[in-house]
Amino acid sequence: MDKKRIYILATGGTIAGSAASETATTGYRAGAIGIEELLQAVPELQDFAEVQGEQIAAIDSKDMTTDVWLRLAERCEELLAKDDMDGIVITHGTDTMEETGYFLQLTVHSDKPVVLTGAMRPATAVSADGPMNLLQAVRVAACGEARGKGVLVVMNGTIESAREAVKTHTTSLDTFASPEMGSLGTVQDGEPVFYRQPLRRHTRESQFSVQGLAKLPRAAILYAHADDDGFLVKAAVENGAKGIVYAGMGNGSIPARVEKELAEAARKDVIVVRSTRSAAGRVTKAEASYEENGFIASDTLNPQKARVLLQLALLRTTDKDEIRKFYSIY
Ligand code: ASP
Repeated sequence: MDKKRIYILATGGTIAGSAASETATTGYRAGAIGIEELLQAVPELQDFAEVQGEQIAAIDSKDMTTDVWLRLAERCEELLAKDDMDGIVITHGTDTMEETGYFLQLTVHSDKPVVLTGAMRPATAVSADGPMNLLQAVRVAACGEARGKGVLVVMNGTIESAREAVKTHTTSLDTFASPEMGSLGTVQDGEPVFYRQPLRRHTRESQFSVQGLAKLPRAAILYAHADDDGFLVKAAVENGAKGIVYAGMGNGSIPARVEKELAEAARKDVIVVRSTRSAAGRVTKAEASYEENGFIASDTLNPQKARVLLQLALLRTTDKDEIRKFYSIY
């Protein structure tokens, strides 16, 4: 049987990180190693697929920008439209992998697999995890079962949906998990095994398109804390935020003083989404006043993912009811 053709888009991160010593696992330079060197380090890739690569960026993903997101979405759509292209693997820093993954989940219109992977140890470290993660990501991208399952995050032997994947640990190799929904599958002895598939709308069925765009609407995330009086709400609005995600307490609870500020912002047509600073769980409508003020519950999207959906929603509409619906579909 013909080998599948998999294209790697490299963006930097720890998987391409270089440290001063083989024992250093922090304090390295992310994104220092180019795609050719990454591919050479794992010659086994070519046993499972015809693999080529291209450098899209060479950054630490803490510095991820809208510009790189737009380039990635455009390049994925371009490549996947080709008959002789079967899937894409994106090498990416782990810090913002969950946001980039969800952004692509909503903006790449294809059934073909798009898989993000990275590493927690730099490429120069003893027992670096990047090569195995890359191999596993290519195996997943090249397997028939990954088709139609949306954008995936493959790290340390698990397959997560980009909608659910969260970086849960600062330094552990086993950092990615889907706290609320669980993984879609695993990769063992190089073999991808799927157990579930995402039901929320994604990729081919997504209504969102970023083709030809140069920027996205500005949206802020504000993080709840004891004694929060909401002074940052005004700052966000004054700085042009068209949307605010409030990372509330528990079930998206908002301190009364902050609620007053957010209600004022909503009256000025800023879209307010309630997410949570808790690690898992769905944010529901909760208090009647939240609905009366026009706030929207983020469902199970954490603040950073709720912000991605909000930015894309704002490209289509400023109607609160329509945007509320998006949070129940995507
Ligand atoms: N700071 C790094 C990055 O996100 C961390 C990593 O890749 O694990 O690029």
